[in-house]
Amino acid sequence: MVTPFWQADDGTTALVQALENSLQHAIVHDGLRLPGKFGFAIDCAGPPVLRQASADIRIERTEAGSLLLYADGAQTGRLVDPHNAVEQAMALANWFVRSGGVCNGRGRMASHVRHMPLPPEYNTPVPLAPPFIPEPGMTSAGWMAGVAFGQCHASTLCALSTMAPLRLTPWRMIVLEGVIQAPDLAELLQAGDARLRVAACTGALACPQALAPVRALASDLAAHVPAHAFLHVSGCAKGCAHPQAATLTLVAQSGGFALIHHGTTTDQPIARNLSPERLRAHPELMTKD
Ligand code: SF4
Repeated sequence: MVTPFWQADDGTTALVQALENSLQHAIVHDGLRLPGKFGFAIDCAGPPVLRQASADIRIERTEAGSLLLYADGAQTGRLVDPHNAVEQAMALANWFVRSGGVCNGRGRMASHVRHMPLPPEYNTPVPLAPPFIPEPGMTSAGWMAGVAFGQCHASTLCALSTMAPLRLTPWRMIVLEGVIQAPDLAELLQAGDARLRVAACTGALACPQALAPVRALASDLAAHVPAHAFLHVSGCAKGCAHPQAATLTLVAQSGGFALIHHGTTTDQPIARNLSPERLRAHPELMTKD
């Protein structure tokens, strides 16, 4: 995963190309077997913006302009430079495998480093950084357009692609490289749109595991989500659209929706068997303790 705010002269694209080449070589020629969800975040265009996005090995730029390589979940990393960053990132991936991070083809770095000490050279503290809160609007790389639940019609995507090169983000938004004003397309969300504070998976009928449709309900409830709160509506307990905790979570179960406050889809609900009709008629139910 690459910061969508990379600049042509900040070294990001060279790092990404070198990492792709090294990974390809290690997988094909050295037999490296990383879990399917294992990933790298190259986040060195400025202050980190990808910390809330899923990754196992991260490269960020420090305030002093150096590159910091660290294992996701670790408090310390090691300083690297553009010439050895990829080599050291691959060494960290190999350490993960050799030290038992993979079990039955699965495993993530954050849970591995909880009980496995990193090599001693990983001794530079990872600086604290405020959470990055993305909003549609102007960025250093171009206009960032939001789409509700990360889904838009092909015609909208096609129109965007004729305006500029597109950079995908992990925030259900697309950066239009070099564009300096909002595209005039009805499907794009404006800053402050209530749907930016809601996540919903595909739900039924698109997902065979879903126990209910969720997107229409999520849209209808969006305007009732209190300021500074976040609503996650999930078609089942897997919670694909928002694996983290949310202020409000509605998860489809066989008897209706369960409501969870300040938790994930698998935490203890404070109410069960809420029908979509009841939620639409009484959205205040979501926020009652
Ligand atoms: S959370 Fe459940 S219903 Fe939604 S996409 Fe994932 S598996 Fe399907």
